[in-house]
Amino acid sequence: MSTDDQRTVRDFFARDEEEQQAFLDQTWCDNCQAADLGMHTPLEYLLDGTIFVEGTCNKCGQQVFTELTEDEL
Ligand SMILES: [Zn+2]
Repeated sequence: MSTDDQRTVRDFFARDEEEQQAFLDQTWCDNCQAADLGMHTPLEYLLDGTIFVEGTCNKCGQQVFTELTEDEL
């Protein structure tokens, strides 16, 4: 088994409260096929130069991801 998981976990809670709330509210759930259902238990990490905020859909409990393309880190 090989792991190509190069995730670097970042501190989501270091963000502004407002920003955190926006991430938690503005979601897209593939399972529900719906936007802005919200998520909880956020985890932020960096993978291949992209920041992801991963959480759990408030409606169905599946993992949801928000991808950030932030050039200025
Ligand atoms: Zn969902």
